[in-house]
Parts: sequence; structure tokens; C-alpha cells
Amino acid sequence: MTKKPTPTVSCPTCHKPVPWSKETSPWRPFCSERCKLIDLGEWLCEEKRIPGEPAPGDADYDPESQEL
Ligand SMILES: [Zn+2]
Repeated sequence: MTKKPTPTVSCPTCHKPVPWSKETSPWRPFCSERCKLIDLGEWLCEEKRIPGEPAPGDADYDPESQEL
């Protein structure tokens, strides 16, 4: 009566256990499309970042001077 248990993986985004099954987890290894998009978005951000380049106006940013 007991079937072979479905292996589970943990979602790379939220670390929730995701059953490794085509029927129940179309977004595997992510638990949902949302988590997949989050992971993809983070990856793209990493890719776009230029190493060695300081964040624009991080130190000298003065919100007061933006007032027009
Ligand atoms: Zn998730």
C-alpha cells in the first residue's frame, strides 16, 4: 500500500521542501513560480553589477538638495 516516497528538494529561494514531482511541482526546484522569478531576478542583479564601481551617490547623497 505504501508507495515509494517522492524525493524532496528545498526551494533555493525560501528553503521550503518541494516534492520532486512533475505533477505537483512544475516549478521545481522552486516551490512556486514566484520563488523562481525571485531567484532569477537576484541572479540578474548580480550579473548587472559592475565590480569595483561604487554605488552612485551613496556617500554624498543629500536628499535636501533634491528639492526643487
Ligand atoms: Zn520557495
